[in-house]
Amino acid sequence: MNLPFEGGCLCGAVRYECSAEPVIAGHCHCEHCRRSSGTGHGSHLGVPEAAVKITGELSVFEAPTDAGNTVARHFCPTCGGPVHSLNSSMQGMVFLRASSLDDLEVFQPQVIVYTGQQASWDKMDPSLPSFEGMPPPDTLP
Ligand SMILES: [Zn+2]
Ligand SMILES: [Zn+2]
Repeated sequence: MNLPFEGGCLCGAVRYECSAEPVIAGHCHCEHCRRSSGTGHGSHLGVPEAAVKITGELSVFEAPTDAGNTVARHFCPTCGGPVHSLNSSMQGMVFLRASSLDDLEVFQPQVIVYTGQQASWDKMDPSLPSFEGMPPPDTLP
């Protein structure tokens, strides 16, 4: 992987650069990812917060999850493009939306979570390990 990798929102007002390889990458079918995505899931790359430099202004929507933590979803106030989210149970990590990447191949999914809320029409790679909800962090690949 070529570092740093870059990405941003649809209109370009928000840009980021990440100097570290993702620690975790996967698809999530939870209701919050779905409703903020435009399709049946959200795809995320978890990277160390210290490795990400973001420019531009973001709007935030913060909501509790069924796992008991809070997720703060950051998106561009102009174009609405989702950029990243912060999870209160995973301090120090930033979850970049794969849809915001300049080079889409930087995203190499390892896992699928919340398949319990998956739409029948949203078919995924059957070779990936999948979980009905959010597995404990130490069981993730
Ligand atoms: Zn934008
Ligand atoms: Zn989700």
